[in-house]
Amino acid sequence: MKLSRPDADIFVPDSGPSAGLAPAAALARTTHLCVIAHQDDIEINAYPAVAECYGRADRFFTGVVMTNGAGSARTGQYARVTDAEMQGIRREEQRAAAALGKYNLQLQLAHPSADVKTPGHPAVTADLAAIFAGCRPSVVYLHQPADKHDTHVACLLRCLDALRALPRAQRPARVLGVEGWRDLDWLADDQKVPLDAGAHPALAEKLVAVFASQIAGGKRYDLAALGRRLANATFYASHATDTASALSFAMDLTPLVNDETLSVADFTAGHIESLRSDVAVRIRKFSL
Ligand SMILES: [Zn+2]
Repeated sequence: MKLSRPDADIFVPDSGPSAGLAPAAALARTTHLCVIAHQDDIEINAYPAVAECYGRADRFFTGVVMTNGAGSARTGQYARVTDAEMQGIRREEQRAAAALGKYNLQLQLAHPSADVKTPGHPAVTADLAAIFAGCRPSVVYLHQPADKHDTHVACLLRCLDALRALPRAQRPARVLGVEGWRDLDWLADDQKVPLDAGAHPALAEKLVAVFASQIAGGKRYDLAALGRRLANATFYASHATDTASALSFAMDLTPLVNDETLSVADFTAGHIESLRSDVAVRIRKFSL
């Protein structure tokens, strides 16, 4: 397997189902693929995908982190760490998470964020084309288009470009956008894709705690990620008891992959329009 950047990292964990296998062979058996912007985005935002494959011999989770993690905030014991050192620390944290979660394969593409934000960037395009052509996952997890982090949205758009460039028969049957720097509680209930995040709770906690360099600055991602899943489960349905102890929500992005003429902005605005209409209808129902 050849990736564009010399500092890209390819890791087949010994603890995972493809231990000892060549990376290309591990990629080929992927059933659950997550392509996301930063180290820790998988563990915070796509945990249901990890949990579905954890300890299974018939499901293979592959995680792909697109950026090099250079721009992250740093304080406390990491205050004097240089950009280059921080990239190394975050690479190792991601490897540790992949080992802990028994991932099938972990790829870190190490692209500068600016390259991911450039439509058609040759190195980014080549990596994504190779990854999406090298496997036939049943479900792909990406960022969701209403995220408020520029790099997350750019990462999603590059992935959609790459998926739309595949021959129609090779496109994945299901593509989901996961919560990140904006949750998906605001989606109308019939547009939410609820994903069970309640399996292996101790693992869920440890996977986020691995990213000590990100939590050290006072951002308690470890508590916040698990708190969001608990809140989603509890507030999902007001008149039903909780069926899952933790839930993540996703947006179904499959129509954007099946129809390359569909505008991502219009598709997303349509979901926002559903929220606007739901709010307005309920208020009118009980008004004079
Ligand atoms: Zn991120």
